[in-house]
Amino acid sequence: MSDPNWNKIQKKQQELIEVLDKELKWFNKEELDNTARRVTGYYKELWDRQEFKFTTFKAPLSETNSMVVLKDINFYSMCSHHLISFFGKAHVAYLPKKKGKICGISKLARMVVKHASRPQIQERMTNEIADELMKKLDAKFVMVVVEGQHLCMLARGIKQNASVMSTSAVRWGHSKHDKEEVNTLKDEAMRLFGL
Ligand SMILES: [Zn+2]
Repeated sequence: MSDPNWNKIQKKQQELIEVLDKELKWFNKEELDNTARRVTGYYKELWDRQEFKFTTFKAPLSETNSMVVLKDINFYSMCSHHLISFFGKAHVAYLPKKKGKICGISKLARMVVKHASRPQIQERMTNEIADELMKKLDAKFVMVVVEGQHLCMLARGIKQNASVMSTSAVRWGHSKHDKEEVNTLKDEAMRLFGL
């Protein structure tokens, strides 16, 4: 993936502002001169892909039965349906396989920020985080819960300003699907998330 052409994006933004101004006379000179640049800077900051190296370590044998949990990971994203913000907290848990892999705890937060840093929808973001963690960690179990507040619902449309949307994704890394064990692990993760 190549970097977006930010000059082109800023030019189009300028065109939009000029159309709006022509129709509605909303902007003063300073805004006509600088708002397109500021908006583009905001997109640039929000959509910077935040790639990082996901380093892993061998899981210590004594810890193979402990779930690793990071909760309350703050994220800011932008709804790809309305191009306005949604934001909130993500909670991530995984259980390494026996003699499997673990990662530095900050990598879990980085994984959330990476998938938030693009025009997004919350369901897709939740699944992308779970899929990439499972791919990188080859874990026994991965669970991701995202709680998001969407400005497209808070400030427009139905104007539900207290609603929080929750989405979850579970991945299971064993060939044999043990429903009972998966449910036990899900319950444990939810308890550790404090949900
Ligand atoms: Zn939206």
